[in-house]
Amino acid sequence: MSATDTEVWKRQARERDEADPLKDFRDDFYRPTTGIYLDGNSLGLISRRAESSLFEAVDAWRRLGVQGWEEGQPSWFYLAETLGQMLTPLVGGNAGDLVLAGSTTVNLHQLVATFYKPQGTRRLIVADPLNFPSDLYALKSQLALHGQDESALRLVSPGADGLIREDDVLAALGPDVALVLLPSVVFRTGQLLDMGRITKAARARGIPIGWDLSHSAGVVAHRLDELDPDFCVFCTYKYLNGGPGAPAALYLSPRHHHQRPALWGWFGGDKASQFDMSPAFTPALGAGAFQIGSPHVLSMAPLKGSLGLLAEAGIDRVRAKSLALTGFLIELTDALLASHGVSVGTPREPQRRGGHVALHHVDAAQLVPALRAAGVVGDFRPPDIIRLCPSPLCTSFSDVLAAILQLRAALEAPAN
Ligand SMILES: *Cc1c(COP(=O)(O)O)cnc(C)c1O
Repeated sequence: MSATDTEVWKRQARERDEADPLKDFRDDFYRPTTGIYLDGNSLGLISRRAESSLFEAVDAWRRLGVQGWEEGQPSWFYLAETLGQMLTPLVGGNAGDLVLAGSTTVNLHQLVATFYKPQGTRRLIVADPLNFPSDLYALKSQLALHGQDESALRLVSPGADGLIREDDVLAALGPDVALVLLPSVVFRTGQLLDMGRITKAARARGIPIGWDLSHSAGVVAHRLDELDPDFCVFCTYKYLNGGPGAPAALYLSPRHHHQRPALWGWFGGDKASQFDMSPAFTPALGAGAFQIGSPHVLSMAPLKGSLGLLAEAGIDRVRAKSLALTGFLIELTDALLASHGVSVGTPREPQRRGGHVALHHVDAAQLVPALRAAGVVGDFRPPDIIRLCPSPLCTSFSDVLAAILQLRAALEAPAN
């Protein structure tokens, strides 16, 4: 490829950046000074607004001490519910359906413990082997707690292309299934499953279904009120930019707002009587009941800023930009990297794609550190995947082009 071809791509990237309605949000983020950050699906970056809401929480602690539980802005006592409500413009649902608590894995334990009720031959849990390992660990340990062995875990294998087929998922939902848990977006490949079709089939067969939205919340527009799965869990430190260790979210269908959680703790209690300190547990109504201990006030604090920023950007515009960025990344890969042995592992159809792109190359394990040395942060997932995530609020089309040009330079370096 000649220098003039590169110029053509650069001009195209600049034109797309200029036309981008979300371009100004990029300046709200602290971007690493080392270069281009394409790892927002592992840990989203900090925005100025997230930083100030964190400092506000620290300041409230300093000024108010214990009174922050009432007088903090927002009050710490209701913080988990308040932030849960701030998620509704991004994922759908209504007040009482969402709460922030624990971690994704802990919330999954709570929900599986509640909704997995093996009876006779109806005892299987359907999942997929590509799901995040922690989700599978939680499922396996819940099976053990319910007196089941691992033969009760039915894993729907991907096809030769590494992608899960919805037909195979539906075929797995037999009368012997007691629960389904799937990721909205598969973390390795970036495949977005047809959540509507699968949820409908599970519901029609009377099987409780939960989704892990960790790789889609904040980048794919969900309407959980329309989808109406039984429950969801998701982390808030990826596209929701809540910061390392930010508490996770938990969604509970309004159909289950009177459901008693399996695991009880005082912060799952009815707020009106929580401080009666009664030995009898009276659960809150809705998702709030599924909390266990105190909300992680300082770890949650950045979310007030970052969720406000996302709501202002608008999830539909965020999704549109994300698809344009990943589409551009795929187009550039085809044009500039395919001849170097790089192939695209993520579905090309926009409706089947999450927010990141998986590229395959035999030397992926060496290429990712080479990219980092050149200032481009992506990540490696064995055996041969380079994951690149152009997180929409903080990435430009020019960033994507620069990263692909660096990858090409790494592929052309003599060490490879
Ligand atoms: C990131 C992620 C998690 C993280 O779990 P934690 O318990 O919050 O650390 C879980 N599941 C999936 C699918 C993820 O992508």
